[in-house]
Amino acid sequence: MRHVNMQGLTAPPAWATKAKRTLDAVRAAVAAGTKRKFTMHWTEDAVRNVLLELVGDKCWYCETFIVRADITVDHYRPKSEVLDVPGHPGYWWLAYDVSNYRIACRHCNSGGARYNGVREGRAKGSQFPLIGGTRARTSVDDLDREQPLFLDPAHHSDPDLLGFDSAGYARRSNTSYSQAETKRGLCRADETIRILALNDSHLVLMALFESPHIVLRDGANLLC
Ligand SMILES: [Zn+2]
Repeated sequence: MRHVNMQGLTAPPAWATKAKRTLDAVRAAVAAGTKRKFTMHWTEDAVRNVLLELVGDKCWYCETFIVRADITVDHYRPKSEVLDVPGHPGYWWLAYDVSNYRIACRHCNSGGARYNGVREGRAKGSQFPLIGGTRARTSVDDLDREQPLFLDPAHHSDPDLLGFDSAGYARRSNTSYSQAETKRGLCRADETIRILALNDSHLVLMALFESPHIVLRDGANLLC
């Protein structure tokens, strides 16, 4: 996984004005206890192009080039629900915050991921498990108190935890485990690989063709 530096990233002013109006309406709905309506401003080129300029047409999670397919914008912290966290309203207040956006292929964002023929669930989608810390539930809660399980390409050190081995498989990098990982008996990189099915056979094959230094699974050299 490669680090995507989002520091200083801002949304185009006209888009931000429009998004703020929508967020104000969402906030009012939350206060009134009525149905929230999330207009999908994140799919608009005005903001998506700003994100694409950072690393090009690549999925920030699986690093594959997105060719002739949907380039989706994932909410790192899901906007309308958090899977397996009953009663959580989702991080609705971040729905139009560009710092919460990640470019993702459809495979990583909304499912269909498989590994060795086994379906790997809902992909990233509305999953946002924590490995420790305190979960934010309202807009005034401190996000820094959360310790996400899922690796974040926009975090300064998370990408260092995940790399690809010489056979093209996603693996945890050779780094020590955090206190939270040891305590929970979970590996953040392994969980990310599982959720995104990063070792899906198609993805491994693509990784092979993208690197001249990678060998085939049976050990035969490819391109080098
Ligand atoms: Zn992807």
